Amino acid sequence: MNRSIVLKNRPKGRPRQTDFLFVSEEKPVLQAGEMILKTKYVSVDPYLRGRMNDAKSYVAPFELDKAISSGVIAQVTESNLAEFSMGDYVYGMLEWKEYQSSRGIGLHKVDGDKAPLSAYLGVLGMTGLTAYLGLSEIGRPKSGETVVVSGAAGAVGSVAGQIAKIMGCRVVGIAGTDEKCEMLTSDLGFDAAINYKTTGNIRKAIATACPQGVDVYFDNVGGDISDAVLVKINQFARIVVCGAISVYNLTSLPQSLSVQPFLVRNSALMQGFIVNDYAAKFPEAMQILTKWLEEGKLNYAETIVEGFDQIPQAFIDLFDGKNKGKMVVKIAGTQ
Ligand code: NAP
Repeated sequence: MNRSIVLKNRPKGRPRQTDFLFVSEEKPVLQAGEMILKTKYVSVDPYLRGRMNDAKSYVAPFELDKAISSGVIAQVTESNLAEFSMGDYVYGMLEWKEYQSSRGIGLHKVDGDKAPLSAYLGVLGMTGLTAYLGLSEIGRPKSGETVVVSGAAGAVGSVAGQIAKIMGCRVVGIAGTDEKCEMLTSDLGFDAAINYKTTGNIRKAIATACPQGVDVYFDNVGGDISDAVLVKINQFARIVVCGAISVYNLTSLPQSLSVQPFLVRNSALMQGFIVNDYAAKFPEAMQILTKWLEEGKLNYAETIVEGFDQIPQAFIDLFDGKNKGKMVVKIAGTQ
């Protein structure tokens, strides 16, 4: 049989196991113009939480009782398509199913000899592109500037901070455990890291870590952490609004800082973005990220959880900060 994971309930607040249901169905049978894919690695991402609400957004909500989808690396087991052969690995937005058929639309091949397959879900995938394009297109850091990254030990944040270092900046990361902060400063080259859960006074901690103020803020979390950074911005600061995970599970709008006076006073720019806004720049960005990886200028962390049945929990765990770097689920039988 073939297992799939469907959205059973729209989560209220923090997602729970009971919001997901495992369903058994027949394995797909190869048809003309199709191939059969076996899932190997599944990406779980905070943005999927938004798709679980029945609300208008930049991507359509998931439908109840239908399989959830996300970035997946799969292997071709049978193919009637000229462009894809048995054994090829592909990346694309695919369903949370052990096996599925596909016409190949929107999928592209990935080379497991050039980089570990899981990297195509992280540093060489959507989150790496988000870090690079958000920073280079909106943050535009200049050498010598101070860049603060929240969610700094996660998939996007850990890459964004390293890119800012490559660009010659002083980089301060904000993360939720001492172990994550240690990874940022010891392994990933950040100049300073703040544990927002234990620091006591986050504003004071930011002031200490950023004696010259903040020129670029790469914001992955929103909420109180971002309010604390915003009061320290410099003239002509750029605030890259990448995500706001601290509010994704809230059921009512939070009270937050009135940002306008800080933006006006500092002639600052605050801009949200979706990585697909920059789709035309993906090939160029991929080349740069690959080169930095090969040169050893860029490192990456990943948390790999094993087992198809662990996908919902791995997703839920993002909201408890259980991951360092990219959270990926490896499916049994994958090398
Ligand atoms: P991630 O950072 O790898 O994982 C989520 C992390 O968020 C957790 O490890 C946790 O780390 C932190 N977190 C969870 N709840 C939090 C809270 N209440 N306050 C502060 N931190 C919290 O995830 P990611 O894939 O790299 O995504 C990071 C952000 O970028 C998300 O907001 C996501 O939606 C956004 N994003 C945007 C785009 C785009 O196109 N704009 C693309 C990809 C991702 P701690 O232990 O540090 O709390």
